[in-house]
Amino acid sequence: MTQMDLRQVFELQHQASRAQVETPLVVRRERLLRMQKLLDEHGGVLAAAVQADFGMRSPRLTEMLDLFVTRKLLKHVLAHLARWSRRQKVATPLMLMPGKAWIERQPLGVVGVISPWNYPVQLALGPAITAMAAGNRVMLKPSELTPHTSAQLAALISQFFAPEEFAVIEGDVSVATQFAGLSFDHLVFTGSTSVGRRVAQAAAAHLTPTTLELGGKSPCILGEDCDLEDAALKIAHGKLINAGQTCIAPDYVLLPRGQEMAFAQAFRQAAQKLFPSFAGNADYASILTKRHFARLRQMLHQAQGMGARVEWMEDGSKSAAAGSQSAWGDAVERQMVPALVFDATAQMQLMQEEIFGPILPVISYERLDDVIHAINAGPRPLALYWFGRDEKVRDAVLSKTVSGGVSINDTLMHFAHDNLPFGGVGDSGWGAYHSEQGFVRFSHQKAVFVQSRWSAASLLYPPYGPKFDNVMALLKRWL
Ligand code: NAD
Repeated sequence: MTQMDLRQVFELQHQASRAQVETPLVVRRERLLRMQKLLDEHGGVLAAAVQADFGMRSPRLTEMLDLFVTRKLLKHVLAHLARWSRRQKVATPLMLMPGKAWIERQPLGVVGVISPWNYPVQLALGPAITAMAAGNRVMLKPSELTPHTSAQLAALISQFFAPEEFAVIEGDVSVATQFAGLSFDHLVFTGSTSVGRRVAQAAAAHLTPTTLELGGKSPCILGEDCDLEDAALKIAHGKLINAGQTCIAPDYVLLPRGQEMAFAQAFRQAAQKLFPSFAGNADYASILTKRHFARLRQMLHQAQGMGARVEWMEDGSKSAAAGSQSAWGDAVERQMVPALVFDATAQMQLMQEEIFGPILPVISYERLDDVIHAINAGPRPLALYWFGRDEKVRDAVLSKTVSGGVSINDTLMHFAHDNLPFGGVGDSGWGAYHSEQGFVRFSHQKAVFVQSRWSAASLLYPPYGPKFDNVMALLKRWL
């Protein structure tokens, strides 16, 4: 789509949002039901497009983490839509009685959504669903790195929605930059922290409020008393699903000194249980592109060169890889065998950047306080994981660290809970579009006060004198 088209769509939506400020509940519900129909009828097409973009990514994984998660969000929103949309009554303080007040949740107007490639359906449609539920019009700019999925989204959305309701703008980074420069009423960006910073700057020019769903290094802390095998399985699952290309994948593990070998063995077994082989295994995702793959290999290479010890997981069936090579093209070559990294230091690239691949540094600690101190000294993480049984230690970790969200004795799961807001803090982003908090984020919360004809407010009007002093003295006593 050209710049002209981009601006035309924006103008269309903007004017429509000003001509018709209110979006009745029945219209919102009907739009969401159309989205449900789109997912029900075309989920398979979208899963195939995701597979084509990755080269290898199980349609079952896409079914679970792109389609099911989106349908679940949609169902939750539909179930609560009437309550979330209605006037929210608030109690009125004595001094303003017998007046009354409420909060009117109004659509903001046009919401822009910029989405990444790693879960290209869910992260595109999720924010759009909540924004539409709140009565907004939506423009979506999906990632240029998943062109098949972005093209399918564009085709399906134009089939199911009028351009003034919901439109997709395809294009590269230059289009994304123009997109971020539009004067949206709200802009949701999901992607890297560095691009998020640029998006926030572009939005600031129009005072456009943003929701930034960014990345970062999410630590995973093992307590002294944790069940190592159980933790290793859950960490392996959180890390290896989508080959580590998950914003809340555990980025690195912190474990009590002395448990390294036991953890490595447990992780190896867990990885083997989940993925008996990597290359040629249809359940194991490819790294998206050769460039992303090369970055990961380079990180490992640098770490090794700086003294780290790399332990590769075993790749069970080389023969299966050879058999599927022709069908999958170079996707098999991008199915990266996972690796644990010991003796990583802060100077290494893999401890400075979000890894976003199946590489897991394992760092030993002597005292939990050192771990907490190190986490607090860095950028605030998107997720934090803690494994253990001692609730006092758990609560100490919770109260002494700040992260977007936390799962205890598991990885990823706080994301799946519909009543929890999902989002980051500091460098991992701000705002959340899940749950009622997401609905509120895409609504203007208009304060409405209705004065009573019996109001005594005029007793405080000038000219000030004894009447004012008596009323003021009374009010002060009420405080
Ligand atoms: P990215 O930041 O490179 O790109 C994301 C989107 O931004 C793409 O659609 C791209 O076209 C667009 N973009 C690029 N440059 C832009 C610019 N200057 N202005 C406006 N838009 C621009 O991220 P990615 O590589 O697609 O995704 C991986 C990152 O996303 C990781 O850091 C990951 O942690 C993060 N992520 C976060 C969440 C979350 O919910 N917090 C979810 C998934 C991914």
